[in-house]
Amino acid sequence: MAWRPDSHKWIFLNNENADNKMNTPHAKEKGEPRKQDFSLSHKRITILIPAYNEAENIPLLIDQLDNLIDNNNDRVDLKKYSWEYLFVNDGSKDNTLDVLNACRKNNLRVNILDLSRNFGKENAMLAGMDFICSDATIIMDADLQDPVEVIPEMVYQWEHGYDDVYGRRKSRGKESWLRKRLSLMFYSLLQNSTQIEILQNVGDFRLLDQRVVKSIRSMRETQRYTKGLFSWVGYNKKEIAFDREDRAEGKSSFNFKRLFNLAVEGITSFTTSPLRISSIIGFILSFFSLIYIIKVLIKTLIWGEPVSGFPTLICVILLLGGFQLIALGIIGEYIARIFNETKQRPPYIASSYNGEKV
Ligand code: UDP
Ligand code: MG
Repeated sequence: MAWRPDSHKWIFLNNENADNKMNTPHAKEKGEPRKQDFSLSHKRITILIPAYNEAENIPLLIDQLDNLIDNNNDRVDLKKYSWEYLFVNDGSKDNTLDVLNACRKNNLRVNILDLSRNFGKENAMLAGMDFICSDATIIMDADLQDPVEVIPEMVYQWEHGYDDVYGRRKSRGKESWLRKRLSLMFYSLLQNSTQIEILQNVGDFRLLDQRVVKSIRSMRETQRYTKGLFSWVGYNKKEIAFDREDRAEGKSSFNFKRLFNLAVEGITSFTTSPLRISSIIGFILSFFSLIYIIKVLIKTLIWGEPVSGFPTLICVILLLGGFQLIALGIIGEYIARIFNETKQRPPYIASSYNGEKV
């Protein structure tokens, strides 16, 4: 069964599609046809990897994942699961898609969802989730910043009843001082203004039980702040600490403009307190202005007023003008969100799944 975003309902995939969804390593070794690979007795885990211009990193990541799964592990036996690596090609401009297709030819675990253009990581993750029908999903970056060694521990905790096993970064890899400071500032700002717990230093690297995936999938907002959604849906959460690596190849596509947008997204989708704050400031200012006006009036009536006070006037006008513009801007942000959501456009458009047009 799979979620069809276009029709917003679940449909049953035909057998052939279901076979393609999950291909066990077991079959790869024996060279058996895919039809017999689909085994319901295995628990299935999908690794969901949004990829944008990651051609150099993908083969390395697949090697690392294969190595991890095929070599016996002390914590849990990863071989007893059926694994799928679902790559979502988010409109890459390099040859990511070709690399993925080449990888898929000799690795049956690889599945490829190709989006019609770049929709951003948040929407690419939703796209992937719509095409997953596994017992658990692990979301990770394609740039090897999320260490695969954490996966056995995640699976272990999942088997012990946790629904959302997330990684908390002990260190953040190579990042500029300014970016680190700004993102910490943003987290505390968001946390102070919303009742939902926003976890610091926690990214999208996590294992989700199918129930959580189903809940996230049911939220179809176009402007997504997935980190907030993970907190919003709740469920049993478990934290694992890890050291974030540096990006292997290429450079991060999150420049300051994108991060700023994400921060505005985060705040406007999880709290309306900026609106409240601007009204409170408005009330306080109006109150003091009123007192001031009364004072000026009385003073003028009793003693008269020679023309003076230009500096006071200009200061007050500028200050009030500034506050008004800020308040308007904040309201505008929320209206823009309402505008975008009322259009009810799909959050992404899938172009093909494993080469077949969707
Ligand atoms: N990504 C994506 N679409 C985008 C931008 C990024 O799918 O528009 C993917 C990217 O390929 C990577 C992950 O999101 O797998 C994280 O991106 P990046 O490394 O640029 O972000 P950072 O690690 O700096 O937060
Ligand atoms: Mg990265």
